[in-house]
Amino acid sequence: MEQTFEKLKHLQEVLSKRIEIENEMEEIPKALTVKEELLSRLQKSYIEKNDSKVASEEELSRLKKLMNDAERARETSEKRMDEISTQREYEALEKEIKVATEAEQEYRREIQKIEKNIEVISEMLSSEEELLSQQKTEIAEEKERISAIISEKEMIKNEMISEEKIISHDMDSEILFKFERIIKNKSGLGIVPVVGGVCSGCHMTLPAQFANDVRKGEDILFCPYCSRILFHQDSDKDMVTYDDEDEDEEVDEVSLSDLIDDDFLLD
Ligand SMILES: [Zn+2]
Repeated sequence: MEQTFEKLKHLQEVLSKRIEIENEMEEIPKALTVKEELLSRLQKSYIEKNDSKVASEEELSRLKKLMNDAERARETSEKRMDEISTQREYEALEKEIKVATEAEQEYRREIQKIEKNIEVISEMLSSEEELLSQQKTEIAEEKERISAIISEKEMIKNEMISEEKIISHDMDSEILFKFERIIKNKSGLGIVPVVGGVCSGCHMTLPAQFANDVRKGEDILFCPYCSRILFHQDSDKDMVTYDDEDEDEEVDEVSLSDLIDDDFLLD
């Protein structure tokens, strides 16, 4: 079981690294999203301005036609001046010319106003066009940069995954699934020691019998409060006391060296 715990600790390192990389890969394109939103706002504003320019141009050609009509009407009336013979006809014709001239002048004023307006919009459009193409270039460059970073991270991630497979090839798949989920949810810590009957992951005091079972180390047990995998760790390493149960090799080594020291002293 000690070996399983060691494997889980090793696996935890690799898993946390992999999860960290996955989170980074998710975060990286977010700055790009902000730029793309800005671009789409710019495009919307550009389209609106352009629509208004088109409408102004239509209005301009309508007014130009009306001004031409008024101009022709005035010219026709002016030609007829030569043909009139009475004062009444003269007055009527003079009035026609006056009306046509006034209309012509009014249309000309409106045309100038609209032409000025179109000029302003055109200037805005050309500066927005510049901004748009700048933004598009930036986004394209950013995308290229991101895809390079992502593929690099993808490579590291795949290395992690193969390492995970090597470490965990003989482990229970359900426990592995749970373990990965705990590490994801508990920011990297999926296996923690129980010290003095307290889970060092969530600092909750475990039921005495449960803490005992963890101490025995016969099974993989999960903390009932924080779901982490638990292993036993003595609260004071200088006062190690062992049960009658078989100890693993590492502990035996320590005991053996202690014995040798004792033997030397006895000699
Ligand atoms: Zn816990």
